[in-house]
Amino acid sequence: MKNRELLMIPGPIEFTPEVLRAMGLASTSHVAPNFIEVFGQALERMRDVFLCPSGQPFAVAGSGTLAMDMPAANLIEPGDKALVVNTGYFSDRFAAVLERYGADVTQVNAPAIGDAPPLEDVEAALKGGSYKLMTVTHVDTSTGVGTDVKSLAALGRQYGALVVVDGVCSVAGEALYQEDWGIDVALTASQKAVGTPPGLALVVAGPKAMDAFHKRATPVRNYYADWNEWLPIMEAYEARRPSYFGTPAVNLVWALNVSLGQILDEGMDARFARHRRLSEAFKAAISALGMKQVPVSPDVSATTLTAPYYPQGVDVTLLGHVKEAGAILAGGLYPPIKAEYFRIGHMGVVNQSDVLATLGAIETGLSRVGYKFEAGVGLAAAQAVLTQ
Ligand code: PMP
Repeated sequence: MKNRELLMIPGPIEFTPEVLRAMGLASTSHVAPNFIEVFGQALERMRDVFLCPSGQPFAVAGSGTLAMDMPAANLIEPGDKALVVNTGYFSDRFAAVLERYGADVTQVNAPAIGDAPPLEDVEAALKGGSYKLMTVTHVDTSTGVGTDVKSLAALGRQYGALVVVDGVCSVAGEALYQEDWGIDVALTASQKAVGTPPGLALVVAGPKAMDAFHKRATPVRNYYADWNEWLPIMEAYEARRPSYFGTPAVNLVWALNVSLGQILDEGMDARFARHRRLSEAFKAAISALGMKQVPVSPDVSATTLTAPYYPQGVDVTLLGHVKEAGAILAGGLYPPIKAEYFRIGHMGVVNQSDVLATLGAIETGLSRVGYKFEAGVGLAAAQAVLTQ
């Protein structure tokens, strides 16, 4: 018997055998020619995965929160106005990060939990103030809410704000065209749809963002995140020259380069389409099983995860039964509704079999906790989408 459970949480995700093998390569010096080549190539590939040919990539050891810290530390000066388009837990975090660097933060909130702020509200806020920067959480992992980044970025540009997108739960899964959509900074972490073990903060900054950074009047108030330190390092690796500021996460960078190569082999559009299709199948199954989702409509639903409310009379004990049946899922995260819902990540290398196996495990779990439904109804709904 295979002694493994499917890891279906919204990050960290499962990694390909090739990526995991790259983690185990014999350690090398961070200035060894073979490592310089791999790091240089990974940076080049980041531009292709973020779809930002004129962007400046940064890959630095740290988690996604460091990736949020970087644009905040490097673009905000005390007193700058920043607008946060708030869709939940990670938007709250971005507001806190910006405030830490002295930003005067205004937030546009959604009308209800599970919804995204309407474009008109964001436009009204942008019109009313001269914001240096605006942040958008592409997919709020806490609620499964996805935002219309393309339209929001267009608004931000129109009103002269730098557009910063938290793509931690979207880059390389959810459709995101950084340069075409006019996004000044997009950021993610290695452990989600990018498909590399946790530990790398990945940021791509477009020319307008780099220009704003170069025009700062005050020093960057974060030593480790300072682009003055990291920019020469990234440029050196791309030029295949040795350099040092902080020791790079050598094994993670090997793995990142392998994963980015696999992502580009699949092709970005094909990858976005696969995520969309699997997500549609998953969500159709959840509805067929009689469960509501946290996002209030398909327009504001992410494709990288699904966040169903527990059915009446069911609670978090469901997840223990689902795990016994072979799939590890995540509980709720957003404090106001934390105990009322759960989350399933379906991003990265996830395939049709993973989706069906997970739904089978959810059906098993639901019957174990005494929920009444027609066995197989979720699987049938997913199959109906997958066989279209
Ligand atoms: N933003 C979003 C949308 C996230 O999902 C997460 C992590 N789940 C973060 C930021 C923070 O990333 P990390 O946990 O790697 O610091």
